[in-house]
Amino acid sequence: MMSTNVIREGGRTKASLDLLYHISHELASALELRTVLERVIKLSLENVSGGRGSIIVLDDKGNPVDSIIVVGNKVIQETTEQLKFTLDQGLAGWVRKNHQAALIPDTSLDKRWQRPARGEEAKAGPKSVVSAPLIVRDQLVGVMTLTHPEIGFFTEEHLSLVQTISDQAAFAVLNARLYAETKRRATIMTAIADSARAIGASLQLDEVLQTILEQTTKALEVEAVSLALVEPGGKDLVFRAATGKQGKKVIGLRIRMGQGIAGWVAKAGEGLIVRDAQSDPRFFAKVDEATGYKTRAVACAPIRARKKVIGVLEALNPTTGTFDNNDLPVLEGIGNLAGTAIEHAQLFEQMEAARTRYLDLFEDSIDPILITDLDGNIIETNKQADFLIGFDKKTLQQMNVHTLHQADYKVLGQDMAKVKEGASVSYESVLQGKDADQIFIDVYVHRITVDGVEQLQWILRDITERKNLDTLREDLASMIYHDLRSPLANVVSGLDVLEMMLPKDKDPTIRSVLDIAMRSTERVQRLANSLLDTSRMEAGQRIGSPEPTQVIDLVQMALEAVTPAAQGKEVKMEAAVPKGLPRVMADAEMIRRVFINLIENAIKYSTEGMVVTVGARRAGDYVEMWVQDQARGIPKADQERIFEKFARVQVSAGATGKTKGLGLGLAYCKLAVEGHGGKIWVESEVGRGSRFAFTIPIARTGQLQ
Ligand code: ADP
Repeated sequence: MMSTNVIREGGRTKASLDLLYHISHELASALELRTVLERVIKLSLENVSGGRGSIIVLDDKGNPVDSIIVVGNKVIQETTEQLKFTLDQGLAGWVRKNHQAALIPDTSLDKRWQRPARGEEAKAGPKSVVSAPLIVRDQLVGVMTLTHPEIGFFTEEHLSLVQTISDQAAFAVLNARLYAETKRRATIMTAIADSARAIGASLQLDEVLQTILEQTTKALEVEAVSLALVEPGGKDLVFRAATGKQGKKVIGLRIRMGQGIAGWVAKAGEGLIVRDAQSDPRFFAKVDEATGYKTRAVACAPIRARKKVIGVLEALNPTTGTFDNNDLPVLEGIGNLAGTAIEHAQLFEQMEAARTRYLDLFEDSIDPILITDLDGNIIETNKQADFLIGFDKKTLQQMNVHTLHQADYKVLGQDMAKVKEGASVSYESVLQGKDADQIFIDVYVHRITVDGVEQLQWILRDITERKNLDTLREDLASMIYHDLRSPLANVVSGLDVLEMMLPKDKDPTIRSVLDIAMRSTERVQRLANSLLDTSRMEAGQRIGSPEPTQVIDLVQMALEAVTPAAQGKEVKMEAAVPKGLPRVMADAEMIRRVFINLIENAIKYSTEGMVVTVGARRAGDYVEMWVQDQARGIPKADQERIFEKFARVQVSAGATGKTKGLGLGLAYCKLAVEGHGGKIWVESEVGRGSRFAFTIPIARTGQLQ
């Protein structure tokens, strides 16, 4: 070990070289900033002598980042306050400013040496001091100061020795500082990465918030953490989650934007560390008052999602006593992660809600619904479907929809291509239920996308009842056809024979009785034929046998049939059929019955003295024919509906209230006219009569059929 008496003329150069070698050797292996600083001071104290040494490490901007004081062989831990003072007002500050070494043989005689008002140093007596800057390539990385209790102890030689050591040590200090910075960044990154892993693990908002709090507590080592989110509208912040003893009381508290430290951070969009909360003007004591918690120090960072501040994250009272330099960047890092995670969780919640809504609708639907993949394999069924088909969900999920019913590939497309492409189709089929019963169904199929996967939705509507009615109707129709038509034909021909056999000087009474019988029979025959036609046309059969027909013939035949009815009610009939109308392509018998239906209705709703007009005119490629009355009219809302089967307009009780009917006549007219390629409609206003009109295509010349 060297001592001060080594520094003598002659021995100096060798001694200096030895020292330099020794220093570089000592420092070469050290990388840890604290170790480097300790070694530098110890070497200096050993080689230059002195009672006490200190180093303040500065960053690129000249701000202190670390420091150390060594007294004798002991490292003093709490150094910050003292060194901050000397850097602000004392000798270290002078050295930092001037980039120059300083020698003060007697501190009581030099203004550069200032003593703090309190503490150990305040009481100490005058001493001798040397201080030198640590400079690497013009950059100041620190200031080293040695003191000796003996006034006048340090000389110029000591000063140059200290300078030499400083020059030698500066590089090692810089390296160690950079290493410390790198390590610090790495620590921050690791803390954030750890948090990222944890926070990203869930999509449930509550869980995400909880994990953010846990991660912050762990990374910053604090007593309590709270998280507030900006309310829609951006005026307020509401605490959504909090840990710590009083955490529960914090949740739900509302603060204004800009109010308190949290409000300040949310508004400013930047993080903040407040080491002494109670004396900070931004501190908002109301929250502490509300919770009974005592906030000492606060670290607060904004929570950002897509660059927008959506809340703040607040860490309170570090358990280590004070926040360190790493804490704010770590908190800000977690804040950024939190923003994305919260936003994702919120989106996920919305999606879940929508999904639940959909599932409820699905489950509660009164229609049986199956969800299948594009090949028809059943994925999901609702209660109604299980009930209708008779299998339980599990069994159904092993089945294919095609095994349950005969699919109609005409509408679905080959291999269901049409629905796969997005078309919605429907068809009738028979469902093969569990108990071997066959259920008539209407099938509606369309493609849906669930969670990004394309699937098919099959709605199966039980139409057994409708089918039963159809069967009944068909039975009825064939009953009419077989059991009514031929006996009726016999009656008609019987009456014809009778009429022929009637003597010339006939008895008028017999004559009129016969007429009534003949007309009534004709009426029944017409009705039977209309019913039969209706049922055939509904079954998709071709209409009778259309051929070129004179409109006037149709009108006259119809008028003849209804004349007795009109006379009976004293309703006047008028016909306005212009001459030269082209012939229409019609099954005369069917269209005559359309006319008779319309005229009979008109008479039925007319009262004594009213006029019913029958007319025709050309309308492009069609002839339009109409029946107009002056009766009660039909409300707008019913004008479409009356053409449906069994539709009857409800009228308030009145003169027409007692008219009877089944609501079949107009349904027949519509089928017959449309079967001919024409249209039928009504123009009417309540109280002002109705005009029923229909069109039949004109027969093209040379057209026979
Ligand atoms: P029905 O006369 O057997 O009830 P329709 O199919 O012929 O059946 O008529 C359906 C309904 O349309 C009738 O019940 C009636 O309410 C209304 N309707 C038909 N023609 C007229 C008309 N000329 N004036 C007023 N209402 C009519």
